[in-house]
Formats: sequence, structure tokens, C-alpha cells
Amino acid sequence: MSGRLVIGVDIGGTKVAAGLVSAHGEILNQARVSMVAAGDAATGLAAVTTAIRDVLKNALQPQVSAIGVCCPGPLDPKTGVIINPPNLPCWRQFPLADRIAQTFGIPVAVDNDANAAALAETLWGAASGYRHVFYGTIGTGIGTGIVLDAKIYEGATGAAGEGGHMGIDINGPTCPCGKRGCIEVLASGPAIARRARKKLMDGRDSKLWELALGNLEDVTSETVSQAYRSGDVVAGEVIEETLQALAYWLGNIIDLLDPDIVVLGGGVSGMFRDLLDDIRQRLRGACVNPSAPQIPIVLARYGDDAGVAGAAALVRAETAASPVATLTETK
Ligand SMILES: [Zn+2]
Repeated sequence: MSGRLVIGVDIGGTKVAAGLVSAHGEILNQARVSMVAAGDAATGLAAVTTAIRDVLKNALQPQVSAIGVCCPGPLDPKTGVIINPPNLPCWRQFPLADRIAQTFGIPVAVDNDANAAALAETLWGAASGYRHVFYGTIGTGIGTGIVLDAKIYEGATGAAGEGGHMGIDINGPTCPCGKRGCIEVLASGPAIARRARKKLMDGRDSKLWELALGNLEDVTSETVSQAYRSGDVVAGEVIEETLQALAYWLGNIIDLLDPDIVVLGGGVSGMFRDLLDDIRQRLRGACVNPSAPQIPIVLARYGDDAGVAGAAALVRAETAASPVATLTETK
């Protein structure tokens, strides 16, 4: 039993979450510490090892076979080196996987959060039982992961799966990445709010004013969703435009990958819960694949825990597929 448990670690710019995860993807206990992203490399690493030790301390059966880590990119999943993430200035060309492995004496795998979450959904979540999976996480940005035959598609250099920066409008707004018309700058949470604010600034009357207490800055994707559900016309237009952008984007992806299933996760995806059929219907005009309207589009199993579960999936998949499954029985 002990060897079937792994630890998943989710590193962000402000916090580190770690969890003990079962062979079925259940998170048995979790610890959370602040990430020290602006200090030196050792201080950043100490935050990670503290979170891992906290999980082991609280575990009934503190024996794990491996540690998976998801971390903002760019990073190299093949070597476990963190290259230069903008929100983790403590680490530049930092061999994170090796350092954690040296500390705990068990195998460590590292990948970015969207790839990791895609794998967790495939192994244990909404895409369980499907071979070829496309996963998109919609939040403050849009991240994506491609899983083919139960393995993350990494590409030649480990940089594949950046579908949030697939452009669908060459004349569109500029994305933080520098390109124009990326789906991230058209359909992420901030993009939805921005579009609503623009309509309000154009003098439109809307329930959004009331929900945001007259403060334009307080218009968010949540208030747009709330106004939409109460029948607000302006919010309805924003949702309509967002669905159109998402369908056009997914149409491109389906034409390229022909996946068995599309899974949408992330903090903003919940507002599309009742609109997934709508997106699927719109695929007819957005893609040439005749089977596209039959491809399931579903919401993810994991919400806030997607990072921890995803990180655990990185090593769970390896141990499951590898003859050295019994690996290290660490103390
Ligand atoms: Zn972009």
C-alpha cells in the first residue's frame, strides 16, 4: 500500500501546496506554505521542502514512492530544470527535480501545471478511459495540455501544448506574450471582464453597474456570469462573443488533433457549465472535422486541487508504466 502513495506539489508565485495522493487520485491530506519567490534559489527550494515535510508529518502512512511537481514554465520536463519563470525570479536554470530528489531520496518529476492537470484528468478525472485528450484551463490565463495514449505530448523541446497562445485573430488585441489575438487575451477571466467594461464605457445600460456598485474596476468574469444568468443584455453579448471565440479556437484544435474528448478546467470554466452544448453546436462553423459535434466537451474533475493532483499524476503515471514500480521504499 505504501508504495502506491505519491506526493504532488503545486508551486505558484505566492504559495506552495503539497498533497499525499492515492493510486486513485484522491488527495488524502494537504499542506500549504508561502512561496518565497523573490529571494535566492535555496530559500525558494526551502519553501517546497517544508511543504513536502508537512505532508509527510501529517500522513498516517508516510511512505511514498515518488514526488511530482508542477511549476510555472518555462521549464524542461525532461531534465526537471526550471528555466526562467517570470513569477519565480528565485530560479534561473535551477535543477529543481534533482534538488528535491537529493533531499528525499526518491524519484521526482516536474512539468507545467496545465500539462500535469491534463494528465490527472486522463488518469483519474473527467477524461478517464479516453485515449487522446485535450485539456484547457481557463482562469487568469489560458493553459492547455495534450495527452496522447496516456502520455503528455511534450514536443521536441518540451515546449508543446501552449494552446492558450494559439492566435485566432491576427488583428486582435496584443497578448502579454507579445502575439496578437491569442485565445488567452480573448477568453480568459480578465479578457471577459475587459470586454464587459468596454461596453459599459461606451455608455451601455446594464445590471453590471449595480453588481459592481458603480465601480468599473469591480466588473469581473464572475459579475458578467451573474448578470448573464439574470438576463442582462450586455452580459449576454459578452458571453456570446466569448463562446464564439472559444468555439473557433476549439475548432482549430479539433481539426489539428481530433481528440476523443475535450476537458475544460480552471476558475473561469464553471461559468460555461450550462453552455458546453452551445460551444459544441458552434463547432459546425468552426472546424472541418465532421465528427466534431460528437466530441464530448466536459468540465474537469479537479478544481482548486488540479495542481496537486496533476503533479501526483506525473509520477503516478511513471510508476504505473514502469517495471521499477516498487521503486524506493523511503523511510
Ligand atoms: Zn499569447
